[in-house]
Amino acid sequence: MDFLPIFLDLKRRPCVVIGGGEVAARKISLLLNAGAQVTVYAPTLCDSVQRWAGEGKIRHETREFRPEMLDGCALAIAATDRAAINRQVSESAKTRGIPVNVVDQPSLCTFIMPSIIDRSPVVMAVSTGGASPVLARLIRARLETLIPAGYGRLARLVSAFRDKVKQRFTHPPHRRQFWEEVLQGPIAELVYSGQEDAAEKALQQRIDSADGAKAAVGEVYLVGGGPGDPDLLTFRALRLMQQADVVVYDRLVSPAVLELVRRDAERIYAGKERDNHALPQEDINHLLVRLAKEGKRVVRLKGGDPFIFGRGGEEIDTLAAEGISFQVVPGITAAAGCASYAGIPLTHRDYAQSVVFVTGHLQDGSVNLNWPALVQPHQTIVFYMGLHGIATICRELIGHGMPTSTMAALVQQGTTRNQRVLTGDLNTLPAIVAQAKVKAPTLIIVGDVVKLHDRLDWFKPNAAN
Ligand code: SAH
Repeated sequence: MDFLPIFLDLKRRPCVVIGGGEVAARKISLLLNAGAQVTVYAPTLCDSVQRWAGEGKIRHETREFRPEMLDGCALAIAATDRAAINRQVSESAKTRGIPVNVVDQPSLCTFIMPSIIDRSPVVMAVSTGGASPVLARLIRARLETLIPAGYGRLARLVSAFRDKVKQRFTHPPHRRQFWEEVLQGPIAELVYSGQEDAAEKALQQRIDSADGAKAAVGEVYLVGGGPGDPDLLTFRALRLMQQADVVVYDRLVSPAVLELVRRDAERIYAGKERDNHALPQEDINHLLVRLAKEGKRVVRLKGGDPFIFGRGGEEIDTLAAEGISFQVVPGITAAAGCASYAGIPLTHRDYAQSVVFVTGHLQDGSVNLNWPALVQPHQTIVFYMGLHGIATICRELIGHGMPTSTMAALVQQGTTRNQRVLTGDLNTLPAIVAQAKVKAPTLIIVGDVVKLHDRLDWFKPNAAN
């Protein structure tokens, strides 16, 4: 090991920074986060350092560097573009036994700055020993994706309960097991989703219950799986999918997304084919309740976003009525995913100032929409489930005054490697669907923004194969 990682307490300690540019600003910001009293010596300051000086957060002096400036300080950083001064700072600090860092000059440093992931009080530091700051940053980015943003809050909750748990579980292995379960289970999830009061209550219950056993009732996570490309999942969706005991999924969930569910989780297909629901909605609602009551962590995985034509509201309504705890994790809805991957901005200053999402499939099989509201200038219309009613949709739009030449796009299996985009106008669209044998799931985008597709089309699914 070339460097020993340690964590310094700099609260109210005097620290000196020589230099006031952007590079210095990044170091100063870290020192301020650590509660240090920072004095900056520099003839001129960049904007952010200037602002901190104005706000009294740092002291600023314009004097040239003198070794005595380091007397009594806890730490020194040199961030000037003058090699002679940097060297002088390094030597003066070393003679005084003060830890010193000279930016980008490892040979002049007695300590180096790591890449930091700050979830205070949890702090992670990554260093490559100066070999490659870029690599350190990449590692940091990976860790950022793995560690929920709420980790700090979780640590504070644990800290508040440490003594109680110590008294309750006197045998250290039991204590360790208790914390492992809490930190990886529903209580942690409550913290991440901002429900800290509920988390505290649940933790207290776990401590009070005779054997510290798991709560008998599980939880349901209504998770948006996005339009197909697994890269479009949220961090939270992925984490919950990897913790699930059971996953109940729809036809729309792409195989690549389903692949990311914990390997030994039970998988239940809930269907949802047009007019041929594998499981009626009522049964799905009750299935979720039953699984949760068995104490399972259930991921209800839906295509796109659960609250956009996903009947997510109905499913959690039943859960709420039964007193089962649940979370909703948003997903990228088909309109956003397909539009991006087809290079069709849904709004655009020149073409559309509003966008509406409508379903082209109504319960009684008809397409009975508020057409005058849809046919508005400078508005993009996105039809979900519109394939079956495409002829009616085009006819009604024209009938309500939309120019026949208005452009429209069909995006089939958007964001996946099978994505197909076909464009036409209101007149030609039904024939295109028939001729090109367009299949569900397909999204229909109507409006002048579709003109941009030819120019902005960037996603080449076949090249990815
Ligand atoms: N909750 C989902 C929508 C469910 S309704 C969401 O937010 O995206 C189902 C309709 O969504 C399909 O009929 C189709 O119109 C559209 N859809 C979903 N995923 C799609 C995809 N990958 N490509 C094209 N259309 C899609």
